[in-house]
Amino acid sequence: MTRVLVAGGAGYIGSHACKALARAGFMPVTLDSLINGHEQAVRWGPLVKGDLGDRALLGRLLTEEKIEAVMHFAAYLYVGESVEQPAKYYANNVTNTLGLLDAMRDAGISSIVFSSSAATYGTPERNPIPEDHPQLPINPYGETKLAVERALKWYGGAYGIRWAALRYFNAAGADPDGETGEAHDPETHLVPLVLEAGMGKRPPVKLFGTDYPTPDGTAVRDYVHVSDLADAHVLALKRLMAGGESLAANLGTGDGYSVRQILDEAGRALGSPIPHENAPRRAGDPAELVADPSLAMRELGWKPTRSDLPTILKTALAWHRR
Ligand code: NAD
Ligand code: UDP
Repeated sequence: MTRVLVAGGAGYIGSHACKALARAGFMPVTLDSLINGHEQAVRWGPLVKGDLGDRALLGRLLTEEKIEAVMHFAAYLYVGESVEQPAKYYANNVTNTLGLLDAMRDAGISSIVFSSSAATYGTPERNPIPEDHPQLPINPYGETKLAVERALKWYGGAYGIRWAALRYFNAAGADPDGETGEAHDPETHLVPLVLEAGMGKRPPVKLFGTDYPTPDGTAVRDYVHVSDLADAHVLALKRLMAGGESLAANLGTGDGYSVRQILDEAGRALGSPIPHENAPRRAGDPAELVADPSLAMRELGWKPTRSDLPTILKTALAWHRR
């Protein structure tokens, strides 16, 4: 069984990827410090508790666990915090990732699937956004993701590393079997906040900006189900391990929904309206971010099957009710 290191496999997207890997016949070996992850989310293979920055551990892990490929989710991901503490973000998201690439070279491992982000595009000139749209991040978080994409390109050319940089739009939803789901702390993402406000577990949702140049004045995003993201990772890994070319690909649906549309759909899922109040725009939020996902569909054969809003909200709600 091919053994795949999953850095950050105890987190939200990484745990869904571990499940998808196991289903596809791989053995996911999670490396996670649990700084933001959860031990109980690691259910489809072993957990090695440790930090990505621990080079000695990484070296041992890659050889002793007979790792053949890497999926890399481990990072910090709060945009606001990245503005206040850029050093923390560069150290974990960039320096530690470069260390991982070095360790892969030492161990002779050549395939890596990397979690990139729509944040690398900054404020887009147009929507939907194709991969060759200018990448001009507007915060340190996006810069760190772009820095790694650039490193992958140069390392690929020089050292024969094959890579896939998957630029997620808005990950949402939870495993349809209820085995894992989203549990960030603090939680800043719209879908869990809306559902928990609807369940009375949080204060009313603040609509960050109601005067955007969008049909209903609230910001538009491209929500993609986390299990669809996980499937794309397995497809990308198979491509790389079969000797396929490296690529950067958007993972989104191509359909944008406003904050109000998310509230409406969540209200339908819960059977009661979501308490909310208007609030000022959140700094750094573009009005609209929608993917052109055609490259991932063409090159990876990826097709999102659970990313319609009702399925996203139904699976997320089932998870949050547990
Ligand atoms: P998450 O915080 O749930 O998962 C990240 C995991 O990495 C956590 O389990 C954490 O403990 C671990 N980790 C972080 N630093 C580590 C280190 N130095 N050593 C060991 N483990 C470490 O986040 P997520 O939502 O699952 O995001 C996964 C990846 O996807 C991140 O790279 C993020 O930037 C990217 N991404 C997420 C979204 C989204 O909507 N959630 C969108 C675009 C990109
Ligand atoms: N949003 C909001 N209220 C919240 C959280 C988010 O209005 O409490 C909006 C946010 O401004 C953005 C969208 O919901 O337009 C999605 O935000 P999220 O933080 O989930 O993801 P992001 O797009 O920032 O990656």
